[in-house]
Amino acid sequence: MLPEIENLLKLQDTDKEIRRLQDEVADLPKRVAVIEQKLAGTKAQLEKAQTAVKADEASRRKYETNINDLRTKISKYRDQSLDVKTNEQYKALLHEIQFAEKEISANEDKILELMVNADARDKEVKAAQVELKAETAEIEKEKEEARQRTAEDEKLLTEWRGKREQLRSGVREDLLRHYERVSKFRGSGISEVRDQKCMACQVMLRPQTYNDVRSGKETVVCDSCQRILYFNPKEELVEQKPTLHRHKRHHPKIDASQAWYYRPEFANDGEVFLCLTNNHGQASRRVYDIHTGRLLGDILIREGDFRQAFPEDIDGSTRLNGLWSEDELDGFGAELPMVILDSLNSDLDLARYEATSGSHAKAAVPAAPTEQAAS
Ligand SMILES: [Zn+2]
Repeated sequence: MLPEIENLLKLQDTDKEIRRLQDEVADLPKRVAVIEQKLAGTKAQLEKAQTAVKADEASRRKYETNINDLRTKISKYRDQSLDVKTNEQYKALLHEIQFAEKEISANEDKILELMVNADARDKEVKAAQVELKAETAEIEKEKEEARQRTAEDEKLLTEWRGKREQLRSGVREDLLRHYERVSKFRGSGISEVRDQKCMACQVMLRPQTYNDVRSGKETVVCDSCQRILYFNPKEELVEQKPTLHRHKRHHPKIDASQAWYYRPEFANDGEVFLCLTNNHGQASRRVYDIHTGRLLGDILIREGDFRQAFPEDIDGSTRLNGLWSEDELDGFGAELPMVILDSLNSDLDLARYEATSGSHAKAAVPAAPTEQAAS
């Protein structure tokens, strides 16, 4: 991997962490504000309850004053009644007294009503006071936590910003500008390539682009999302490494019209993949270098079925999975696409793993799918 790509990956992690910290710092006052709003609501409720209590007390005092006034009036009427001359006047005073007594009774009823209500009002006030106390304590705690967290975050931010500056200085200016432009619009500026795909936008790469990314010699950007692409060979190795959980390898059909083989040694070319194909009564043989995928020598054509035509190539070879049409093979030209080469190599890994692994060696199928065992 290019050192610049490694720096960009670290830069991306750093940018993410800085964003997370900034978001957190921005969110802390919001959390405090939510509790403060709740607190203001409780305060208003308490004030309302207290105002109601005060209003009730004022009303009660008013009723009590009314009663006193009425009692004074009654005693005045009684005094006057001693001096009246006519029956008419006496009746009128009596009527006033009765009216005042009725009024007293009505005021007493209202006081009683207020006294009954006072209990409920008291409870309201006390509940609001308890709530307010709890919320005040909570908000103080939240504020203190927010203060501490903000201070910690700010300290971390300073550290991360320092790291970011250091990483930025390790990346070419034009590449850095590209990374930052794409990051700004897409949230990330660099993307891993796996299975010939840009993992960020999931678009397949052209074989040439894929090969360029894999070679790690120059920086390549995704045609579709513009992110800078990188390839992590370790990831691919982990993915391809056969494990005990892996599904059993699919075995190639013996009577297929095309067969791929691995040979550890071929002529003077070392390790090769052979592709034998039957086509209208003729058999063809293509030989590819297993590392570069380059076609070695000419395509050999012989009469008859490939088993009869190329027995010396099949003997002692490892049979692999692979089936592409004659047109596709022609389309590959002088070099197998990286994805085809990868698929053959990973099938070879599996075949070797089967041959050595204890669990598969005991299986009914031939342990090493060499042609002697399979045919
Ligand atoms: Zn992309």
